Amino acid sequence: MNIGVLALQGDVREHLTALAESDVLARPIRRPEELADVEALVIPGGESTAISNLAVSFGLLDPIRKRIADGMPVYGSCAGMIMLASAILDGRPDQESFHGIDMTVRRNAFGRQVDSFEGDVTIDDIGDFHAVFIRAPWVEEIGDDVRVLGRVKDGPGAGRIVAVRQGNLLATAFHPELTGDLRVHRYFVEMVRQAADAQ
Ligand code: GLN
Repeated sequence: MNIGVLALQGDVREHLTALAESDVLARPIRRPEELADVEALVIPGGESTAISNLAVSFGLLDPIRKRIADGMPVYGSCAGMIMLASAILDGRPDQESFHGIDMTVRRNAFGRQVDSFEGDVTIDDIGDFHAVFIRAPWVEEIGDDVRVLGRVKDGPGAGRIVAVRQGNLLATAFHPELTGDLRVHRYFVEMVRQAADAQ
């Protein structure tokens, strides 16, 4: 299985490690030629404005949009969720996204008082998950084809949507790559396997 991790900015190494621990040898992707060699992509946490700028200057914005439109499975955590959104609130005016999931996300939604926190999320198909949020977005609106997989259970932002899926696209506002709990990565690997089987 060939999974890439978009390696422009953010916690790339942590995703590579989480995938390796899920028995997948993933590789960093910085160039369009490297993208062509993978069947699926992970977009890491980090800073979505920086990832957006770098995606434009490395010539990856349109190739990734095209692969997504063609059905490539993608998982985005935190900044990666923002990069997958069709609309961004509180973004920078020139910020681009890959327009994958039909949803509106709000950047830095949990507010200054709670820059980072840990909280519990119940994720459909996975179960209770202890989640780490760092200047995280939340999802404010979703289209009809988007399935809500998880909401914050209690504490800051209780009830807010923080995990979604639309077809082969998966996004979480939190960072499973930082906690050693591999269930979200394994879930994504299974999505990639099923997408390959369906072809
Ligand atoms: N606040 C960041 C952004 O807008 C996301 C933070 C993160 O990925 N931990 O991109």
